[in-house]
Amino acid sequence: MSEDIIPNTNIGVVGHVDHGKTTLVNTLTGVWTDRHSEEMKRGISIRLGYADAVFYRCRKCRGPEGLTTTPECTRCESETEPFRAVSFVDAPGHETLMATMLSGSALMDGAMLVISAADRCPQPQTKEHLMALELVGIKKIVIVQNKIDVVSHKEAIRNYEEIKAFVKGTIAENAPIIPVSAQKNINIWALIQALDEIIPEPSRHPEADPVMLIARSFDVNRPGCSWKDVKGGVVGGSLIRGLVEDGAEVEIRPGIQNLIENKTKWEPIITKVTEIHKGQKKVHVATPGGLLAIGTKLDPAITKSDMLAGQVLGHVGKLPPVWEKMWFSVKLMERVVGSNSEVTIEPLKQREPLMLSVGTAVTVGVVSNTRKDAAEVILKRPVCASIGSPIAISRQVGGRWRLIGMGTLIE
Ligand code: GDP
Ligand code: MG
Repeated sequence: MSEDIIPNTNIGVVGHVDHGKTTLVNTLTGVWTDRHSEEMKRGISIRLGYADAVFYRCRKCRGPEGLTTTPECTRCESETEPFRAVSFVDAPGHETLMATMLSGSALMDGAMLVISAADRCPQPQTKEHLMALELVGIKKIVIVQNKIDVVSHKEAIRNYEEIKAFVKGTIAENAPIIPVSAQKNINIWALIQALDEIIPEPSRHPEADPVMLIARSFDVNRPGCSWKDVKGGVVGGSLIRGLVEDGAEVEIRPGIQNLIENKTKWEPIITKVTEIHKGQKKVHVATPGGLLAIGTKLDPAITKSDMLAGQVLGHVGKLPPVWEKMWFSVKLMERVVGSNSEVTIEPLKQREPLMLSVGTAVTVGVVSNTRKDAAEVILKRPVCASIGSPIAISRQVGGRWRLIGMGTLIE
């Protein structure tokens, strides 16, 4: 990883299970994001994985064939120069893990939709993930036609035509389709070129009050380490605006649940930033875009096992409100997509449970009130979000949560 270039863009990696998302991220970054033992055993990504890549340009090769993610040109072995760094968010493709994919979509500036050339297109989560991108408004999409090493030229063309027919009329209609083999490292230069062109660094608001969406949180200590060496809790995620400085006092909302006079109450956490990592680099100031990890003075018991995932970090007293109950506008789709049988979506009903994805938070609630094109939900876990935030709405259909529509937080 080049020392000077810091990731400034988050690229989501979505698509059906086994189509090669994690392998592709590994090819681009050298990192296996399936690093949890349970994920390794089951061979699937359960939580959001993330990893950074630097894009290099060969000093000798002319044209895009000299684009690589390694400091040495893969074509002529000459020296290269770095020109950009990005972070990849590897979303799980398994059908029960749609909530995690949706929580990741809040961080994505653009996305790669990975489609295996060795399967018919579309597969259920190929459809469901594209629909999710469409619903949450991620328009910058590069389609990766993976596993071209296992199909003939003719099959690849047929699969390409299936993909073209599938994306017709969607936001991905004009997305480039890049044939690659993630495993055999074929055509990766063309993918880098497409990513760089289609997903430029978004404009940010560094002057605004910082808002960091927390996607993961960790206890980085080894079991049994001495108390003298214990490191404070770490949170990982992305700044969507503003700057966070090393040493700053920060607040995390909704915070932790405390029992006060037999009532549970959510109380914000206040702590101090002790270090900031972006890319492989320790930085003094965290800037928007790209994924980052912030070390704090928190007891690691509070941050272990993603306990703070879905929460928001910012300057003390400057965060959006916390909602235990909220009204939001509702725009439902006509049909549930992704299952083999496509079910019609009925309007929201009083007292029905819903799963809502707001920022990186995924929370369950019960509908307490409805009016035309809007609903009020009482949440099990509160969320920290500003008015106008997009909300992905899922309902239990056939025993699992299915995405049924989108809304925005009203009050
Ligand atoms: P994910 O579920 O989308 O993250 O898929 P994985 O990256 O875990 O890959 C699923 C399987 O496909 C693994 O056995 C990979 O080795 C294999 N695979 C991934 N990319 C390629 C490729 O380009 N060519 C071939 N032949 N196999 C691949
Ligand atoms: Mg995976």
